[in-house]
Amino acid sequence: MRQAAHDVNDDHAPAPEELRVLDPATEELLATVPAASPADVDAAVARARRAQERWVALAPGDRARLLRRFAATVDAHLEELAALEVREAGHTVGNARWEAGNVRDLLDYAAGGVERLTGRQIPVPGGLDVTILEPLGVVGVIAPWNFPMPIAAWGTAPALAAGNAVLLKPAEATPLTALRLAELALEAGLPEHLFQVLPGHGPVAGAALVDHPGVAKIVFTGSTAVGRQVWARSGEHLKRLTLELGGKSPNLVFADADLETAAAAAPMSFLDNCGQDCCARTRILVQRSVHERFLDLLAPALEAVRVGDPADERTDVGPLISAAQLARVRSYVDPGAPALRGTAPEGPGFWFPPTVLTGTDPDARVAVEEVFGPVAVVLPFEDEADAIRLANATPYGLSGSIWTRDVGRALRVSGAVRAGNLSVNSHSSVRYWTPFGGYKQSGIGRELGPDALTAFTETKNVFISTEGPAQ
Ligand code: NAD
Repeated sequence: MRQAAHDVNDDHAPAPEELRVLDPATEELLATVPAASPADVDAAVARARRAQERWVALAPGDRARLLRRFAATVDAHLEELAALEVREAGHTVGNARWEAGNVRDLLDYAAGGVERLTGRQIPVPGGLDVTILEPLGVVGVIAPWNFPMPIAAWGTAPALAAGNAVLLKPAEATPLTALRLAELALEAGLPEHLFQVLPGHGPVAGAALVDHPGVAKIVFTGSTAVGRQVWARSGEHLKRLTLELGGKSPNLVFADADLETAAAAAPMSFLDNCGQDCCARTRILVQRSVHERFLDLLAPALEAVRVGDPADERTDVGPLISAAQLARVRSYVDPGAPALRGTAPEGPGFWFPPTVLTGTDPDARVAVEEVFGPVAVVLPFEDEADAIRLANATPYGLSGSIWTRDVGRALRVSGAVRAGNLSVNSHSSVRYWTPFGGYKQSGIGRELGPDALTAFTETKNVFISTEGPAQ
């Protein structure tokens, strides 16, 4: 990695073969990083194949031990990794610590699965039938910029634990933590080339991974638009695929809910990571009988959110990732539209104030599309059936929250909402030991949880005849 100290405003445009990494809070240039070419990807796949053969030949206990050492090494560098995430992604320091901790925890959790990744013995007449879970080989993980460290680890840790090699392509804007994780893996004693990081442009390095016949599976996390392309291209090779895509998640507030708590929790449910969160609860659906009261409670909660320097321990919300993302968010919000608004710094940096639009048509672009910024809409609903209809009126199905004191309603509504991750009287979506993923256009497959390692294996069935060759 070549570090650079000069300001981004100097006029040389990025060469296609390098990535320029900016601090989104200051627009300062942090580093330039060489971008991988298709030839680099090809060479990395060849090295990864050889490393994977050596890796899978190790005793499971030895693989588990090395992964635990990797987890311990991440833990020993937790503050350093968090500081890097604050600089390159603009995450608040509290979030960034959680993210580095999530990488550590997931590596430990995956290590615990290595010796428990077992097949089955199935009763059959005339012999013995066993299933064997075999690693896939080389796995490509393509990550977005919004949670660079955890999402890289969600694919990488279970894939390694299941006996695979991993090639990670981080997003253009955020390669630095990924590169550091690869160094830490080597420091922990993981075999060389088992886990390689290929910073690069999506349509070049990402596409080369997707198209490479030597890559057995792609784990793609990113936008639904690119996910669709990745699915089509993977289909050419019938490649295994996990897709974690966009969302437009509902936050359903019923009249019988603890309104004070629901209103106090609503701002950070869509503002975390400046709204650049696939699980952001950006459609706040409130029962009409308590709609006005809810807005009265929401307004001060929104104003209390502190937007600013992500390195400051007191900050709740940092900047958007880039000038392009800021322009995108602005394109959704009419400055004159009725809204509750918080405050944000002027710049430099890519800042936008927390905004809850209060008079929006349910069919408006901002109410339907994923904005990926600190913007939500409040829409009223009449009754439970109307709430479910509105919650499901989206092509996405990633997450959602249900606020009610009625247990029967909580169960009915969580059964009816078509989304992969629901929470009742809470906004939490992600635990490394529970499954995560989307319905509908939010994705295919699941990550994390008890089946995380199995997703990186093929099941082979072997029948051994006890009755001679004729059987
Ligand atoms: P993006 O789709 O632009 O890019 C994601 C990754 O794909 C990047 O590494 C990019 O370089 C790469 N890429 C781009 N074009 C490619 C191509 N043709 N072939 C292969 N790879 C290519 O997404 P983004 O803007 O980085 O991330 C934001 C999106 O990610 C949002 O839609 C968000 O909802 C989604 N997301 C989903 C989850 C989830 O778990 N469901 C988690 C985080 C983010």
